[in-house]
Amino acid sequence: MKTPITQLKATLPSPLRRLADLAYNYWWSWTAERISLFSTIDPTVWQVCNHNPVALLESVTHERLSQIAEDPHYLKRLQALAHQFDHYMQEDDTWAGRVAPHLSPEEPVAYFSIEYGLHESLPIYCGGLGVLAGDYLKSASDLGLPLVGVGLLYKQGYVRQHLNRSGWQEDFYGDNDFAHMPLELVRDEYGQPVTIKVLVRQRTVRIQAWQVRVGRVSLYLLDVDRPDNDPIDRRLTGQLYSGTRESRIAQEILLGIGGVRMLHALEIEPVLFHTNEGHSAFSLLEVARQEIEATGESFYEVESKVRDRALFTTHTPIPDGNDSFSADMIDSFFGHYWPQLGLTREQFLNLGARRLGDPWEPFTMTVLALRMTRSANGVSRRHGEVSRQIWSGLYPERAEAEVPISHITNGIHTRTWTAPLIADLYNQYLGRDWSLKVTSPELWAQVKDIPDRELWQRHLILKERLIAYTRAQVLAARLQRREAADDIAAVDSLLDPNALTLGFARRFSPYKRGALLFKDLQRAIRILSNPRRPIQIIFAGKARPGDDEGKRLIQRLMEWCRHPALRDRIAFIEDYDMYTAELMTHGVDVWLNTPRRATEACGTSGQKAALNGAINCSVADGWWCEAYQEGRAGHSSNGWLIGEDAGTNDLETQNQIDADSLYGLLERQMAPLFYDRDRQGLPRQWIAMMKASIRTIAPEFNSDRMVADYVTHAYLQDMVTNPEPVMASPLA
Ligand SMILES: *Cc1c(COP(=O)(O)O)cnc(C)c1O
Repeated sequence: MKTPITQLKATLPSPLRRLADLAYNYWWSWTAERISLFSTIDPTVWQVCNHNPVALLESVTHERLSQIAEDPHYLKRLQALAHQFDHYMQEDDTWAGRVAPHLSPEEPVAYFSIEYGLHESLPIYCGGLGVLAGDYLKSASDLGLPLVGVGLLYKQGYVRQHLNRSGWQEDFYGDNDFAHMPLELVRDEYGQPVTIKVLVRQRTVRIQAWQVRVGRVSLYLLDVDRPDNDPIDRRLTGQLYSGTRESRIAQEILLGIGGVRMLHALEIEPVLFHTNEGHSAFSLLEVARQEIEATGESFYEVESKVRDRALFTTHTPIPDGNDSFSADMIDSFFGHYWPQLGLTREQFLNLGARRLGDPWEPFTMTVLALRMTRSANGVSRRHGEVSRQIWSGLYPERAEAEVPISHITNGIHTRTWTAPLIADLYNQYLGRDWSLKVTSPELWAQVKDIPDRELWQRHLILKERLIAYTRAQVLAARLQRREAADDIAAVDSLLDPNALTLGFARRFSPYKRGALLFKDLQRAIRILSNPRRPIQIIFAGKARPGDDEGKRLIQRLMEWCRHPALRDRIAFIEDYDMYTAELMTHGVDVWLNTPRRATEACGTSGQKAALNGAINCSVADGWWCEAYQEGRAGHSSNGWLIGEDAGTNDLETQNQIDADSLYGLLERQMAPLFYDRDRQGLPRQWIAMMKASIRTIAPEFNSDRMVADYVTHAYLQDMVTNPEPVMASPLA
């Protein structure tokens, strides 16, 4: 049986064969060669195929491949990289091998998530949750942790964004072409796709799985788009976060129940099940069902065994943001299932009930997950507190501080999110093996040795690249909208590489307050268009489909983009994705974050920015509560804190306080510091802050530290049965 890799190999000139191995493993995307390895082959095709290496190798001309196959310089680099890859894949002296030797590829940790953001070429993510899951797999691989990911393969992925002439977000979807992506359909020994069945509302749905290689980790993505499924069911793995509550519960059944069955069919027997957000909590019921089937015990007997093998990470600080389904829906989707668990309807509904015995109580996935896992955590210290508060009602006998939800703060995959240009500086000044020691504060302390001029020059190059990219994106959008010639010509003067540049990229939801900077429009204009100290801002982000309030926010931003006093100073990049996130976090001077307090679970984009020398300016929420450090004698602060919690429920008052604070910071701190240049043209104080930001943020807020924390505090801890249907004690 020919695998897609061997098929691709057969089409490549022999000196280039190893490219097929690299193309089918996302490991390449966090190597130092990632920019040039594939783009050198054909930069235009590379761009057109959204940086998908399989599509590139399949569509580039044979002439071009033959040419490359004779380029000794390229071949040498390829050989070195292939060698590095082989070494990486075979390495057995790993961190996890030492601390968790009982985990193995056959008995790994199973990690369930409804979205994964590994790379822009695999668009099956929406935002932070997915990118976190992607970074989690990458660090698990780097640390040698035996782990498999389980998710859904969306034919259309998440909504795409197009803004029409009136600035209104028009939603559209594109089809993913799985056959030309770095995915392999999982087949049995006869070459047939491995399938399992799940009953969804009285119909059998067959599920197949695609394997994505993420270094040493495999991610299995479930797919129901098969001819032997009902046409309606085939669409269940169509779109991420859209559609009705019915399609959502069906997706969560496929992910949770289907995922556990698929692992079983693949003879993977996880020792632990990690539920990343409540979406996949049905998996825990299926683990219980299999256990009941195998032992003949009752649900309540097996429940504690399931709990011993299960962990839960909650990501939602907003009570209404937690997934829940009406009792009616549970009836229609689980009516056949609770008898298999030996439960009555009422007993089953109680598993997801915030209050027991209320027949109208919806079934909440977080409640199910908290009940069925031995350990639960939020994703930042602040979010841990907020979660204990939200869920304290489930633990009436405990004080709020004793609610068994701890926290492990999110981090980013350093090797993915460091611009190669900056990584090269780290090579020089932190040592060639810096990327293997990213959790070490001593390593990052050496940032002080980087000459100011070198850091600044590289930052300027990244900023110019971002501005060029922004102009190109804005130009393409204006051309597509057939805007007036004057507006099209204006793109040439959009953004100034010498001006202080802020970045704001997140989902446009009212609670993220994307327009806070323009709360007082006249004041914002005065600040941004100050001729001596201009300030500019680049925006990106989508509104959820159906979120008209979010869409109105974007529309207002688009109006300001056309305002005569602002049009050179504000840009909006459409259709935010991981590539835009990368360019923005690499190139801006300041990363802005303005959520309403206690709405941001963690946030990770600011961590990406910090790693590349941008300075964070944020409200105290999520990770920033832990990361922000005030300046002290001899030490710069590592960023800025916007406003303070006025302790009021009046949103307008709080908005005004925060906006005033932001204006003050811009006028009195950022602009003076940024424009204060020495004789060599360097903003010394600013650069000192950039370094403070890297030094204090990089060692802590990375996914190696995060995964290691999960292993030591959650995976390895307290394997004994917890008699209560709650988790183990909070982390120290
Ligand atoms: C990192 C990243 C996020 C997460 O950003 P936060 O708003 O800081 O949580 C979202 N979307 C994309 C594309 C990202 O790369």
